[in-house]
Amino acid sequence: MSGCFDRRGFLQGGAMAAAAMAVGGCNGARWAKESDVKCCPKSAEAKLRLSSGMGIIPGETLQQKLDKMEKWGFEGLEVGGGYLRSNVKQLKEALKGRAVRMSAICAGFDGWLIAEDPAVRNKAMTTMKELLTLAGEVGSTGLIIVPAFNDQKSLPHQQARELLTGFKRWDAPAAERKAGLLQELGDHAAKAGTRILLEPLNRQECYFLRTLADAASICKDVENPGIAMMGDFWHMTWEETSDCGAFLSAGKYLHHVHIASRRERRTPTEDGAADSYVDGFRGLKMIGYRDFVSLECGTQGDKEKVLPACVALLREQWTEA
Ligand code: MG
Repeated sequence: MSGCFDRRGFLQGGAMAAAAMAVGGCNGARWAKESDVKCCPKSAEAKLRLSSGMGIIPGETLQQKLDKMEKWGFEGLEVGGGYLRSNVKQLKEALKGRAVRMSAICAGFDGWLIAEDPAVRNKAMTTMKELLTLAGEVGSTGLIIVPAFNDQKSLPHQQARELLTGFKRWDAPAAERKAGLLQELGDHAAKAGTRILLEPLNRQECYFLRTLADAASICKDVENPGIAMMGDFWHMTWEETSDCGAFLSAGKYLHHVHIASRRERRTPTEDGAADSYVDGFRGLKMIGYRDFVSLECGTQGDKEKVLPACVALLREQWTEA
């Protein structure tokens, strides 16, 4: 895993160049088109709102976990779709009057969207819609989905993309566009008051969706208020050439971020100097990001000490960015 860290150091220059290009474009570089202007820095609007997966926080009960989260400065709670399904009432009750809000719902559906077998796809559509309805009920920012993992038998890339978006070419006339699966899910999500969050993963987990730019491109094809995407610093460590550049390419479609230490996927601070998020935070500031940055990681040390130290490190790096 040390190779990842060494590579990142080498690529630091690339990240700086991407950021400089974006700023340059905003300052009126001659080649800048209207669309480039969306990359303008908006740090005043951006805000670091920390969230965590429920299992990471110590405590016997949901109440005890929420007490700890409030004490340490977390503002969002992320839960799995399976937990949500049987705890909607409890979650709504527990979050009443709290500083902590519901952040994303992580998966929990059956099947997968780009399956070769239509029955598996249908199962995914049905169970995702059920979860979207519940996610809306608890005020969640969105349901995290992965179109398919490596071990799930799926359509080839091109057909998979067409199935999701409903058309072959980006400029296909309206009459030639079919209703893609994401259009249908997006309509359902928007009606429920939430969204789908497409999550790019690293090559060890999936082949179809690995970079933020690709997820944003799918969102752009669909252009539905219920279809958005997220970034995960752990997977980005593997796949992206620049954290800042990746978030810039995600732009307005980015509505959730996962974070972990960068060598072993533990809690930020547990991988020492490798745990640098400044370049990525700079990108988040440039796009005026205000959604959650949520822990998805293991913890090696004493959680009572590691978690507050993690919050302090992330706040410090956000200020530095
Ligand atoms: Mg993740």
